[in-house]
Amino acid sequence: MHLAKRVQGIKASSTLVITAQAKKMRQEGSDIVNFAAGEPDFDTPNQIKESAIKAIKDGFTKYTPSTGIPELKKAIQDKLLKDNKLQYDAEQIAVSSGAKHCLFNLVQALVDDEDEVLIPSPYWVSYVEMVKFANGAPIILKTKKEDSFKLSAEILAASITKKSKLLILNSPSNPAGYIYSKQELIDIADIVVKNNLFVISDEIYEKLIYDNSQHISIASLNKKIYDLTFVVNGVSKAYSMTGWRIGYLAGNKDVVAAIKKIQDHSTSNPSSISQKAALSALTSDKEVLEKMREEFEARRNAMMGYFDRMKLEYVRPQGAFYIFCDISSSGMDSLRFSTKFLEEKHVATIPGVAFGDDRYVRFSFATNRERIEEGMRRLESFLNKE
Ligand code: PMP
Ligand code: GLU
Repeated sequence: MHLAKRVQGIKASSTLVITAQAKKMRQEGSDIVNFAAGEPDFDTPNQIKESAIKAIKDGFTKYTPSTGIPELKKAIQDKLLKDNKLQYDAEQIAVSSGAKHCLFNLVQALVDDEDEVLIPSPYWVSYVEMVKFANGAPIILKTKKEDSFKLSAEILAASITKKSKLLILNSPSNPAGYIYSKQELIDIADIVVKNNLFVISDEIYEKLIYDNSQHISIASLNKKIYDLTFVVNGVSKAYSMTGWRIGYLAGNKDVVAAIKKIQDHSTSNPSSISQKAALSALTSDKEVLEKMREEFEARRNAMMGYFDRMKLEYVRPQGAFYIFCDISSSGMDSLRFSTKFLEEKHVATIPGVAFGDDRYVRFSFATNRERIEEGMRRLESFLNKE
């Protein structure tokens, strides 16, 4: 089959492929421990489900404006102001079918042929492929473990060329779990502004943060960086709503108008029912959310404890629900490690090579503590070759 050039070089998403493989093995009866999951294992809170059921019963089942209903945009404006000190007009907001869709649309709207897009590594799998889809050039910026894999201002400055157009930041980070401090963001913003780059700030894990850390949006630092930044967020991770597919972005109104055109001609509106559910999530009280966050923190602590006992190295995650663990002492590369671990011990993980670092494997702690204990027991026996 001859495929269009645009898709020929695009890789499958390893996170989705391995998660699907683990789910299939479980359905076929294997006792799988799933450390591959990129989604919270909790059910969507009841109140949110009820709002969706009400939307269906009320007949809210037709097309809506393609970048979202006004009430939801208003709730997003309120959220961004309250949580992130960011003020946007409604015309600066677009709601899409997941944060991934927002990111895809932004890259389509901003990146021209051969424009360079700076992506700090380790990176979330889809950024590179999205840039390739747009015919841009993904430029991978190697970071250091000593810096918790954060992008330093020096590395950023040294990587900029005349073709640099866009920087993609992800804080809290998937897979490395770091969160940029205010000073680190100020240093990065300085260079971005001097070089007139755009920034996509993927803040999807904002609500899942530990050790009393603070999440700061780079867009909130000053007016100049605000004008250059597109904030991406959504309800998937914070409210355990991955299947509902609602994400949103905020930024320059001309770019948002371009994204409206893209959605008008591709997806139209995100599901009307899911929009009502997202509205309920964003306006709900935050008690459920805090319970889930606390449980994630306890799981993170448990998993770190096991790694410490096995003397496996990792950078302590301050956010998201992954530990990026150095498996190089096993003598295996990451793909071999993940494949063998799944086949021999029935534990699913994501090989670091998918995130740009073959010495690491991503362990998700979005699974309950009993399963974490079981998976870690299997890891110990895998490494000791019992
Ligand atoms: N950004 C990152 C870093 C993610 O891990 C994910 C999870 N798939 C997304 C964006 C997309 O989230 P959504 O489910 O809202 O599309
Ligand atoms: N963000 C999750 C992950 O990294 C979900 C899977 C995906 O969309 O890539 O595993």
